[in-house]
Amino acid sequence: MSAAPPRPRKFPLRLDRVEGGAAGSTARSLLRPQRPVAHAHVDAGRDVPPSGLGLDSVGVRRRMAERLRTDGIADARVLDAVAGVPRHLFVDAALVGQAYEDTSLPIGHGQTISKPSVVARMLELLFGGAQARRTGHLGRVLEIGSGCGYQAALLARLGSQVVSIERLHALHDKAREHLRGLRVDNVRLVYGDGMLGHAPNAPYDSIVAAAGGTELPAPWLEQLAIGGRLVSPVQEPDGRRQVLVVVDRHEDGYERTLREAVRFVPLKSGRDR
Ligand code: SAH
Repeated sequence: MSAAPPRPRKFPLRLDRVEGGAAGSTARSLLRPQRPVAHAHVDAGRDVPPSGLGLDSVGVRRRMAERLRTDGIADARVLDAVAGVPRHLFVDAALVGQAYEDTSLPIGHGQTISKPSVVARMLELLFGGAQARRTGHLGRVLEIGSGCGYQAALLARLGSQVVSIERLHALHDKAREHLRGLRVDNVRLVYGDGMLGHAPNAPYDSIVAAAGGTELPAPWLEQLAIGGRLVSPVQEPDGRRQVLVVVDRHEDGYERTLREAVRFVPLKSGRDR
């Protein structure tokens, strides 16, 4: 995506406001429920977010990263990326008060913005791939399921070039608007069926899926570079649980490891409006 002039947003971007003082103390109270639920409807009708929440403060994001670290995410690069991306700009106005809680949130069209701890875990797993260990970054990345673009914004900081595919046009548009607002210029958003991967930019050093099916689509494995790593949710053979699967591609084949249980939206074939 090339850098385009910023479009007018619903509210002004005020990133990285200095921590401390009144803004800092507001931020400190933010990780607890911020406002009565009844206020959400009022807030949703406003042109600007409710004032005094301090959501633009870098302190709020650092605090979320710190909680992820306490909960077991050890990779400083991942935590820095989480601290750098304003998640509240990826959710609807009525939900901004929950943007820095460790929870998935609806983004419309029956889809969700993924839970920060799960996103962070998957990014951390990606850094365990041979190529990423050697270079210290995720290299060329393929993401399946852009949604509102949050994880793509994190990947943009951790990889060199990112291709992110979304099958729902409305969300593809939403992701584009969000990433443009943040001037992210190394993510290529593709509207299409991610089950086919994206051959024109293959092979990829890192592949990450935000939706899970019963098995991994063959094009993902074909488009994974040697030394690359894929992380995706997949249904266990008995169909009862979804777990993360990690696939490493070596010179002589693929190595597959099953990890913790997760809950992602289903991987669907084809495109839709
Ligand atoms: N990456 C997002 C998560 C979005 S939820 C985040 O940062 O929060 C998963 C997304 O996968 C949904 O938007 C859904 O529409 C999309 N999806 C499901 N199947 C897909 C497919 N075959 N190709 C592309 N996107 C798909």
